[in-house]
Amino acid sequence: MATTQAAQQQTLRELMIEEIRDLYDAERQLVKALPKMAKGATSEKLRSLIEAHLEETQGQVKRLEQAFELLQEKPRGKHCAGIAGIIKEGSELLEEDFDGAVLDAGIIAGAQRAEHYEMGAYGSVIAWARSIGEGDVASLLEETLEEEKGADRKLSALAESSINQQAASEKSMPSNGGNGASRTSAAGSKNGSGKRSMAPTPSSKPGRNGSAGRSASRRS
Ligand code: FE
Ligand code: FE
Ligand code: ZN
Repeated sequence: MATTQAAQQQTLRELMIEEIRDLYDAERQLVKALPKMAKGATSEKLRSLIEAHLEETQGQVKRLEQAFELLQEKPRGKHCAGIAGIIKEGSELLEEDFDGAVLDAGIIAGAQRAEHYEMGAYGSVIAWARSIGEGDVASLLEETLEEEKGADRKLSALAESSINQQAASEKSMPSNGGNGASRTSAAGSKNGSGKRSMAPTPSSKPGRNGSAGRSASRRS
């Protein structure tokens, strides 16, 4: 079937290997960056979600090593400027004056940027692997793609079920000299699980007065 397109296939194979190297570097950057994002999160749920995805990411690095092996290539990374940029934006956000649920909303947005980047890259690599007859590589990386999609879905669910609403009701606070102080006042949310000890938030019924943007997009 593939006899007439040998040269073309060789080229696509090389392109695929280059993208796999990019992903190998991207995943290893994320293994370093995700703990910092998890540490920055105020929501327990967000933190454990990121930590769970960190574990998956370590497995994804191993899967890419298996892919290199299947392709009889040395595992080698190629600097992924895309993920480097996304990580840089994320760490800049952590240094800004956002706190509590608002900061968490920002962390989720950054994490989802990373997931979407990865989903795009894995999607292409998998399609190329299939088209050049590397079905084993495709199936292997499909497991990773499913994990990325799962992480993205969980991040959306967490944002939409609680964090966005909580962030929307957070008032601006004077931040004289440090995030430490405002952290303490947001401590009510640290216990997570919807327990708001003393914050007089009228929004204890999520969804009813939901944000305008959301209800618009929900309507079918
Ligand atoms: Fe990943
Ligand atoms: Fe890249
Ligand atoms: Zn990921």
